[in-house]
Order: sequence, then C-alpha cells, then structure tokens
Amino acid sequence: MAQLSDDCFAFGGSLMPVDEAVALIASRLRPVAETEMAPLAEADGRVLAEDLVAPLPLPPFTNSAVDGYALHGADLPAEGEAVFPVSARVQAGMSSAAPIEPGQAVRIFTGAPMPEGADTVFMQEDVRLDEAGGVILPAGLRRGANVRPAGEDISVGSTVLRAGQILRPQDVALVAALGLTEVSVRRRVRVAVFSTGDEIVAPGSTRGPAQLFDSNRFMLRAMLARLGCAVTDLGILRDEGDLIARVLAEAAAAHDLILTSGGVSTGEADHVKASVESVGSLVFWRVAIKPGRPVAMGVIRGAAFIGLPGNPVASFVTFAHVARPAIRALAGAKPETLLAMPLRAAFSYRKKEGRREYVRASLRRGADGAYEAEKFPREGAGLLSSLVDTDGLVELGEEVTGVKPGDIVRFLPYSSLL
Ligand code: AMP
Ligand code: MG
Repeated sequence: MAQLSDDCFAFGGSLMPVDEAVALIASRLRPVAETEMAPLAEADGRVLAEDLVAPLPLPPFTNSAVDGYALHGADLPAEGEAVFPVSARVQAGMSSAAPIEPGQAVRIFTGAPMPEGADTVFMQEDVRLDEAGGVILPAGLRRGANVRPAGEDISVGSTVLRAGQILRPQDVALVAALGLTEVSVRRRVRVAVFSTGDEIVAPGSTRGPAQLFDSNRFMLRAMLARLGCAVTDLGILRDEGDLIARVLAEAAAAHDLILTSGGVSTGEADHVKASVESVGSLVFWRVAIKPGRPVAMGVIRGAAFIGLPGNPVASFVTFAHVARPAIRALAGAKPETLLAMPLRAAFSYRKKEGRREYVRASLRRGADGAYEAEKFPREGAGLLSSLVDTDGLVELGEEVTGVKPGDIVRFLPYSSLL
C-alpha cells in the first residue's frame, strides 16, 4: 500500500489550523492507483477514474416531445385555423414514417422519431378533428415547437463526466443513456478501523459498572461506508502501547488508511500517539478545532493514519472536517467545497479567537418565517443526543469571537457532511 513516504510531513507540536491540516493531507496523499470496472447497478458512489466522452448524441435521434400532430413548419397557419389530412401515424419505437408531404400532418407520439420534413408538433390538447378525420390546427405555434433535436442534450464526443466525480444516481443515468454497461472507477479505499479504551466494550457483550458500549466504531463504519470505503473492523483495543503498535503495523500492510478513536490526547492512558511514532511517524496531532483538538495524522509504513478523539461529538466533527477530506483525496475524488447555508443565528455564543468551532444547531422558523439556527442547549463533547437532536453544525471561523442573535452564520446541514 505504498501511498506515502514516512518523511513527507514535518510539523511541530502546536495547534494546526483546520485548513492547513486539510491542505497538508490532501497535498501529500496519493490517490489509490488501481482502477476497476463497475457495472451500472453498482456504480453509485464510486469515483470515476477517467473522463467520460459521449459515444453518441442524446437524444440519439430527433423526436417528438409530446403526443400530437407533426407538420412542415412552412405549413403553420399564419392566422385562423387550418385543416390538414393525417397521412401517417408514428409511435415511439417505430422507425420514422415516410417523409411528410407539404400540406399534410402526421399523427405522432412522445419519443417517436420525427418524419423527414416535419419540424413542428402540435400538442393533441390544442387541436380538434373534423368529421373526415382531418386535424384542425390553430394559429400561433412557433416553428420547431415540441421537438427534441438529436444532440440537444449531449453532443457526440463531448466530455460528460470528469475523472474524480463521485457518481450520483443522475450520473449513472447518463452513463446508461449512452449505452455503456460499466464505467472505470478507482478501487475502494481500504480502511482499518478500531476503537481504543479499557472502558470501552462492544454492544452485546457484558458491560462492567465503569464501562461504556462502543458507539464511535459504528458511527465511523457508517460514515466510511457512505464514502464508499472497504472497511476492516479491528474491534476494540485496550490502552496498551505495544498492542496498539503491533496492530497498527499489521494493519498498515493491507490498508490505505487506519482510522482510530480515543487515546490521542496526553493522558497517561493515551498510547496511540506514541504507538504511531514507534512504527511510523506523526505528522500532526493537534488541530485548532472544537470539538476535537486532539486529532492525529501520521504515516505508518506507507499507509495513512488518522486518530480521532474518543468523545463521540469530537469524533464526529473531526471525521467530517479532517478524515473525510483525507479519504476523498485517497479515493481520487475531486476536492469538495462545502456550501454552508447563510442563516440567522437565534443564539448568543462566546468563542476564543484562533480556532474553528462547530456548534450543534437545529433549524427553526423565526417570527418572520425565515429559517434560523438554534444552538443545542448543552455543549459537552460526549453528548450523543446533541448530534441526534440537531440538524447540522454552525461553523464559526478562527477570527470569530462571538455570535449574537440575528448575526448571519454559516450552517452546514448533516446531509452535506455525511
Ligand atoms: P479519550 O479520547 O480516549 O480520552 O476518550 C475521551 C472520552 O470518550 C472518554 O470519556 C471515553 O470513555 C469516550 N470514548 C472513547 N472511545 C469511545 C468509543 N469508542 N465510544 C464511545 N465513547 C468513547
Ligand atoms: Mg481513552
């Protein structure tokens, strides 16, 4: 898994700004190189490996956009109504009717090919039929109306999707419309994940009186799955430096990234940092982010290492803002610009300058009907309810020192972070 060289970063021990940490990670991580073919039904969420060029135009042939009557634009009634005999009928899927003669109309249906010579279609709702079966057309229709010309959507040879695109359902639809059965994608990023802590036990096992069920690992697994990673779950490791170092070294051999939670601060039971240094090197371990601060990044025998803090909210926030961009870089996805919604704050908050903070907030309607962000009433980084009962994070930049009700703040809905 030679992704990284061990000496590619150098950073002291102070707090690193979030943007700097992300830029550093992104500039040094090389995307996984191997590609594979993903069949259409499995392409959603995969990272496109090469630009996709349209092998045919869309629509592939000129066709009617409505059910109605096609005719020569030159025959359009200038004023008043005009009657046309109906010379043919063409349904979707039929090859085109014989060329249309001047003075005639052709019965046509949505998606059917336009007969040669016809360039305009009347909607059936806008016409009447006379007793002899002729169609009575009103004046006023624009020449070319209700026709979908070949190539109006996609022209043949154009680049329709770029390498690095994470395929969405609409992208898959486009690939299918072009007649392809599979696309070239990067292989999935291989991620090993484990929790640390003597107090942490797996859900389903017996919990001692001073123990907690492991929630982080399942949150992280779910977040990794949404990013299309192939995850190896290494369970829970006790707070033992040698054990952690051994597992890190083993996991590095078969994964692109090792993601852990807990044990990255400076307590006596926090062994993750030292373990990383014993088998690889640490790039940074403190980021100016709250909740979060102790978030470590390193390199272990060519694999990337990211150690998230143990508190569940800190784990969530640092995954979203540090691990997620790193994983996207490994996956070969184009960098993501998070589009924060400008929203009115419905809360006051004081904050230290020089670090980025994320405040858990719910959306509500203000008295004037406009949406505003309401802060979750408590701040603990261990409160899972604060993530479950809110809609997203208000991002307060490094320069911000406080928020007053009515200030416009940047709101990131959870849907944009997951
Ligand atoms: P640490 O980062 O190891 O100092 O842990 C900080 C806090 O997060 C402690 O209260 C831990 O009990 C808690 N914690 C650590 N790991 C987990 C986990 N996997 N699930 C839930 N809570 C955890
Ligand atoms: Mg711990």
